[in-house]
Amino acid sequence: MTVPATRPTRLIALMNQKGGVGKTTTTVNLSAAFARAGRRTLLVDLDPQAHASLHVGVDPDGVESSVYDVMLDPAFDVRSAIRVVSDNLSILPAQTDMAAAESELSSEQDRFIRLRRALESLGDTYEFVMMDCPPSLGLLTISGLAAAREVLIPMQAHFLALQGVGKLLETVTLVTGGINPRLLVSGVILCAHDPGTMHAREVVSDLDQFFDSARGKQVPWRHARVYRPAIRRNIKLAECPSYGRTIFDYAPEASGAVDYAALAGVLLADWDAMLARQADPSGTAVVVREVGAGSGSTAEVRA
Ligand code: ADP
Ligand code: MG
Repeated sequence: MTVPATRPTRLIALMNQKGGVGKTTTTVNLSAAFARAGRRTLLVDLDPQAHASLHVGVDPDGVESSVYDVMLDPAFDVRSAIRVVSDNLSILPAQTDMAAAESELSSEQDRFIRLRRALESLGDTYEFVMMDCPPSLGLLTISGLAAAREVLIPMQAHFLALQGVGKLLETVTLVTGGINPRLLVSGVILCAHDPGTMHAREVVSDLDQFFDSARGKQVPWRHARVYRPAIRRNIKLAECPSYGRTIFDYAPEASGAVDYAALAGVLLADWDAMLARQADPSGTAVVVREVGAGSGSTAEVRA
């Protein structure tokens, strides 16, 4: 497959207003998997808890500037806050006092689009920008949704989590109705998954049906799906943040590394297929469903 040399940026917000569902684990380890596959990746830590920063070994109390400066000062040069973590992986870290941003910025008209502008100023420096949203639907999450083209929803397959998805999709709909009409939900990532339980299987089946029933409707989740593989429950994934390492550095043989690498492979294959179609608009590829923003939910047939 031919992929163009210069690639557009795939901006993804990983969002779920519920805490403890696997957002940070997924953002960090998927970002690391993309970087290992040779894709320039920027991790953006939007959570004042700064777990993503800590997970890649960046102490939020030791940084001179962070995403907080981007939010406070529209003239701030975002590049000066970005730190290289490893080959192809950089981070725009968080700071704990960022929690005050909400009230400090309440009178600033452009507060929701400051992050978007800053990321736009990076041009195509990064192929992937992965935004780890906090467990709330406040300014920082909305800023992530305003800057993103896609939403990925990490979740655990419990019945109560389904209600949370409804609330989350309402928020996405509000954002597409105003600040970011192009935003699409790409799908759900199942975290700490236990496929052996009937309960989990039922929840996944409900989600599959829900997304299938949205096809062709004018909703931001019309291309969404439940991604496979699910990320299995794996204690190594819970251990590695305290060492400031990704799963690939901490336990490359663990199921967590295998699952995140496989999931990254699925996301990359979809993305590359979409870029190849864009590069070959005249050619043999016939898109049979509406093309999402690299959502990976497009189907094609080759003549
Ligand atoms: P969130 O960012 O949504 O609050 P985290 O990614 O921090 O969620 O995950 C919550 C907790 O669950 C963390 O302690 C994390 O290490 C752990 N965890 C996440 N995914 C898994 C998994 N697949 N297996 C085991 N533990 C996990
Ligand atoms: Mg988190």
